[in-house]
Amino acid sequence: MELQFLGAAGTVTGSKFHLTHNGRSALIDAGMFQGPRALRKKNWEPLPIDPADLDAVILTHAHIDHTGYLPRLGRDGLKAPVHCTWGTRDLCKILLPDAARLQEEEANFRNRKKRSKHSPALPLFSIVDAEQVLSRLVGHRYHEAFEPIEGWQAYYRDAGHILGSAWIDLKIGEKRLVFSGDLGRTKAPILKDPEPPEGRCDVLLLESTYGNREHPHNDKREDLGEIVKEVAKRKGTLVIPAFAVERTQEILYLLEELLRNDDIPKLPVFIDSPMAVRATRLFREYHEYYDEETKALVAQGERVLSYKNLHLCESVQESKSVLKTPAPKIVISASGMATGGRILHHLKNYLPDPKNHVLVVGYQSVGTRGWRLITGDEEIKIFGDWVPVKAGVSKLEGFSGHADHTEIMKWCDGFSEPPTTTYLVHGEPDSLQAQAEALRNRGWNVVVPEYGQTVGLA
Ligand SMILES: [Zn+2]
Repeated sequence: MELQFLGAAGTVTGSKFHLTHNGRSALIDAGMFQGPRALRKKNWEPLPIDPADLDAVILTHAHIDHTGYLPRLGRDGLKAPVHCTWGTRDLCKILLPDAARLQEEEANFRNRKKRSKHSPALPLFSIVDAEQVLSRLVGHRYHEAFEPIEGWQAYYRDAGHILGSAWIDLKIGEKRLVFSGDLGRTKAPILKDPEPPEGRCDVLLLESTYGNREHPHNDKREDLGEIVKEVAKRKGTLVIPAFAVERTQEILYLLEELLRNDDIPKLPVFIDSPMAVRATRLFREYHEYYDEETKALVAQGERVLSYKNLHLCESVQESKSVLKTPAPKIVISASGMATGGRILHHLKNYLPDPKNHVLVVGYQSVGTRGWRLITGDEEIKIFGDWVPVKAGVSKLEGFSGHADHTEIMKWCDGFSEPPTTTYLVHGEPDSLQAQAEALRNRGWNVVVPEYGQTVGLA
């Protein structure tokens, strides 16, 4: 049995692990490399495997750094089924065509501006490629046994990271392999906490995004409530740039809680992003994924993520209605770091007025508009114009989709004894180092694999 690390080795992106045994093979996750150009270039390097030879693809969750390479695999000859949870399948239907659209737009832009060494510049995959590979997705429920390859018994367990996210429990003969995927936080709203492992395993692939960091323990709901009240008093508009999937629904859930408790005035809330609208509708459907608290609300007859004054803006026409609605109001729009999308129109409209407030949530990459806003830039460039930042700006701490160091260690406590070998993946070098040290201090046998490395598991 062999495992090759084709992504998320020494970095947090491009998750792809090729597992072979007795001439059969599966790819665990099929992520696209995102972020700096040096990493994105890896998407164009040929894989050391022929996609046509794969017997299965097994996904942990729908994030593009775990699924974005699927359309390319399909285009290059993939014939195998792609296993995932039902939630992942439905999210992929939203995310993969959108990733393809971005690829096509970028190629068109490069061709127009003649900014490519390649003529013509091509997208990594097209919308047609994305649509075609979606037909290969096979949905599973959590805890339902399935056999991706004859003699391989697999289960999905809840990873509590995003809707449908899972860690994989795989038994091949006498060996048990666990792939953590991305682990979520404990006590996050709506979805269940990550399900702990139990017993022992031979091979563990463990994510280490926050291997060296802890999340702050602020009361996010209270912090959000304070800002909403202030903006309402000033009769301003609260603008929240947020990722379309997960973050938008989390914020909406907190707003609903605040409203239910009469902690904030009943302001209209707009979700202005077609992707966020579709993701919100999925969240409304997947009751079986809810945590106990959310299930209890449903049992009391509450409609989660659907309060009265909520406007889901999918069309451009609906998006324009935001501007026509008098303040005070709340606008949640993507992208989360204000690098593109409809949020740019709202920032352009609302930043120049001190009555308004921009609330940034979650991590902001250096150089993005979201990052510029929290570092205090007095004007930012939008659609070629400099826009003065007169509105209030603050960051709401404590939002993250990933378990922090303590939460990862706690999840690992679920095993009755240390796995024979633990491979640390999905982390920057400092995080991987810290995570490795912490586990070694507990007597674990830890390996930090390199990109392209193959290890024997027999
Ligand atoms: Zn993820």
